[in-house]
Amino acid sequence: MQSVNKEIVMSGIRPTGFLHLGNYFGALRNFVRMQEEYNCFFMVADLHALTTLPDTKDLKTNITRVLAEHLACGLDPNKCALYCQSHVYETSELYLYLNMIAMVGVLEKTTTFKDKIRLQPGNINAGLLTYPVLQAADILLHRAKLVPVGKDQEQHLEMARDYVNRFNHRYGGEVFPEPFAFNYGSELIKVPSLDGAGKMSKSENQYATLYLSDPDDQIRKKVMKAKTDSGPTEPNTPKPDYIENIFLLMKLVSAPDVIKKFEEDYNACTIRYGDMKKQLAEDMVRFIAPIREKAEAIQQDTDYLKKVMIQGAEKARASAQATMQLTREAIGLNYY
Ligand code: ATP
Ligand code: MG
Repeated sequence: MQSVNKEIVMSGIRPTGFLHLGNYFGALRNFVRMQEEYNCFFMVADLHALTTLPDTKDLKTNITRVLAEHLACGLDPNKCALYCQSHVYETSELYLYLNMIAMVGVLEKTTTFKDKIRLQPGNINAGLLTYPVLQAADILLHRAKLVPVGKDQEQHLEMARDYVNRFNHRYGGEVFPEPFAFNYGSELIKVPSLDGAGKMSKSENQYATLYLSDPDDQIRKKVMKAKTDSGPTEPNTPKPDYIENIFLLMKLVSAPDVIKKFEEDYNACTIRYGDMKKQLAEDMVRFIAPIREKAEAIQQDTDYLKKVMIQGAEKARASAQATMQLTREAIGLNYY
């Protein structure tokens, strides 16, 4: 449970679509473990979704599904604060203050900004540009030090640390600690898409992304379509990226002896990619199906989901209010 002596952890996932294997291994898997050891704040980042989804008619369904998927993966609302970003109004206030110390030149050079404007040239809104500022507000609002995220978020964390240092330098007060990206392994994770182009993603590459909600046959179909070739012709050849990716996916869900067998086959030039993909597909089905079924059941229980949201918002707001008081004082907004 929440305790003053434990490190504070914060992370979020946008309700922009179905959660996928990358969200699980880059983020959720760590969340589930961290809730046992730390003071954790995990949110469904609905305000962040507004930067790319101007149409909000599906937002409610998306939020309940993403929340249900969090719970199905093993998050316990009694062990962590699990909440919706928009329920914590203090976020918007801190976002405003941080906007005063965020430099536009740096924001314009952010990789995710450049990627997103390529995808939506007709809607290059200021929210998209200041996405890393809002993300820093989410984290700093709880004075979190550890941020479990995938590799794609590394640059945003660097920016958040920059804001902390700039805030402390400008206003003093040492309100915020520097936050760092966190993963239990040694490196941050990037789960590649099945077509070998980029990462699995909620809003891109949908046919090359394995969703936690995919039916068994869909999983099989997607895995069988993954790019391969006719196999190596020389023993111990380095693997091309798209083959490396298949091995990487196998390492996430398959047994060590299975992986070892295919490694040996590869090095001996006897590998049959069809067999490898069939094996991978079955292991993926075994991994994903129980999460999918659990999430479907939880999503039907709207009373329970409402209770979870209210409970989470209360915890998150208590923490946010304490931080905002210190923040206003540090800036000098306390006039009486
Ligand atoms: P979108 O396409 O809408 O940006 P997304 O799939 O990138 O969706 P986010 O909500 O942006 O998901 O990110 C949620 C968390 O999942 C972050 O911690 C992010 O680093 C992690 N994540 C997303 N994709 C991957 C991936 N392919 N591998 C590892 N981690 C990932
Ligand atoms: Mg993303």
